[in-house]
Amino acid sequence: MAYSVQPKASHFVDGAWREDTAGAVLPVIYPATGETLATLHEATPAVIDAALDSAARAQAEWAALSGRERGRVLIEAARLIRARNRDLSVLETYDTGKPLQETLVADASSAADALEYFGGLAGSLTGEHIQLGADWVYTIREPLGVCVGIGAWNYPTQIACWKTAPALACGNAMVFKPSETTPLCALYIAEILIEAGAPAGLMNVIQGRGTVGASLVTDPRVAKVSLTGSVPTGKRVYAAAAAEMKHVTMELGGKSPLIIFDDADLDNAVGGAILGNFYSSGQICSNGTRVFVQKGIKDAFLTRLSERLQDAVIGDPQDEATSFGPMVSQNQLDIVMGYLEKGQAEGARLVAGGARLNRPGYWLTPAVFADVTDDMSIAREEIFGPVMSVLDFDDEAEVIARANATEFGLSAGVFTRDLARAHRVIAQMQAGSCFINSYNDAPVEAPFGGVKASGVGRENSKAAIAHYSQLKSVYVRMGDVEAPF
Ligand code: NDP
Repeated sequence: MAYSVQPKASHFVDGAWREDTAGAVLPVIYPATGETLATLHEATPAVIDAALDSAARAQAEWAALSGRERGRVLIEAARLIRARNRDLSVLETYDTGKPLQETLVADASSAADALEYFGGLAGSLTGEHIQLGADWVYTIREPLGVCVGIGAWNYPTQIACWKTAPALACGNAMVFKPSETTPLCALYIAEILIEAGAPAGLMNVIQGRGTVGASLVTDPRVAKVSLTGSVPTGKRVYAAAAAEMKHVTMELGGKSPLIIFDDADLDNAVGGAILGNFYSSGQICSNGTRVFVQKGIKDAFLTRLSERLQDAVIGDPQDEATSFGPMVSQNQLDIVMGYLEKGQAEGARLVAGGARLNRPGYWLTPAVFADVTDDMSIAREEIFGPVMSVLDFDDEAEVIARANATEFGLSAGVFTRDLARAHRVIAQMQAGSCFINSYNDAPVEAPFGGVKASGVGRENSKAAIAHYSQLKSVYVRMGDVEAPF
């Protein structure tokens, strides 16, 4: 493998690998076996300082380029990532435990999509001209400055690039802190950007736990913070950024509804529910974990789902035939096991899975609860693991009200053959990223993000540009100034 599991150093700062063994130790554990594969160190104040200083320096140089010149670098980075997709995917699998079958198509490749897309957009970013009689206003789209990205552990490479690509396209620099659980891949993305022609310091990656993230959020050199994480962390980071009046993007958790009407194509609906609950072992923010199934199709749905769960291939994540991997960590496994107990204690019926596998690593079989009611913990709280809750419903108005009765608002999906109903229902969903007869597609061309407690701002698509740039407006008077005295 071209990319070593033990990187040359813990951080990538100012265009080079950087180590400071004075930082607390961060072990990198392979979720499939529980083995420690690498040891990194948290960023010390000296490393954090160097990252922010070099980012500020690089940002000024980078912003002076034309958008097209910046775009060329991002597109070259996308090409390099695609050429090394397999190596980066193998590494991502070691870091997260997600099956190689998934990482080959959803991680480095999604990162490359973002760099390519925003590289393409960079040359077309403009302000506008507003004619006001003889006078006029023009606007200049300016970068924000140094942006900080803080990532979750489920899609480390994708998250790093979903933040870095639009930031760089707009002329900003990025200091990225991966989750302490999955620190590896972002380092190599920063190295690839240098190879693609980015100035040293344009993307820095520094490691650390939440305290390192917190010190970045309040630093006066930072103009913007983009976090992917849980709602409680999001509230803390948003409040800290607000105190310094910084821009924010918050990509947070969810408890999204997936509504299956009894006229739905059964296999597609079951496939959508599997994708929306068990891909990446259920560790996806937008998952449709509250599966509302209309009573007429409930038995058929549960039967077909149980049959298809038998086809899950649980095993070595580096084997491309494997389709279901371990949880990312002991901590996440414990959280999910806790919810499995709670679900049963509160009266839900466990109809499949939920068994701990007797092998090292953090393994659990995909679990399905039926007869779940709205008040149960498993129907209200984000679990972030392979646990599907199936809830029954009678009619459209009822299911819309129940689907929206949550603090979250990340995603929503509907399966039905009645397309008028599909659009009518989706229009009433309080959610940012919605699906009709599909689930969890996240192309870079589409805005992604939540409403309510699930977040602020949007990633991907042209919408992300507004979150990584600001407009200066310039009024130009062509005649004399008429002052009152
Ligand atoms: P956390 O909220 O625990 O952590 C997210 C990141 O924030 C980590 O890098 C963490 O560091 C860091 N952090 C923690 N505390 C602070 C702080 N006070 N200041 C600054 N940074 C801090 O989330 P997880 O990593 O456990 O990820 C799972 C969550 O992420 C789920 O809720 C999921 O829904 C959400 N998510 C949302 C997505 C979206 O796009 N909407 C996509 C993917 C996940 P460390 O881990 O080192 O403590």
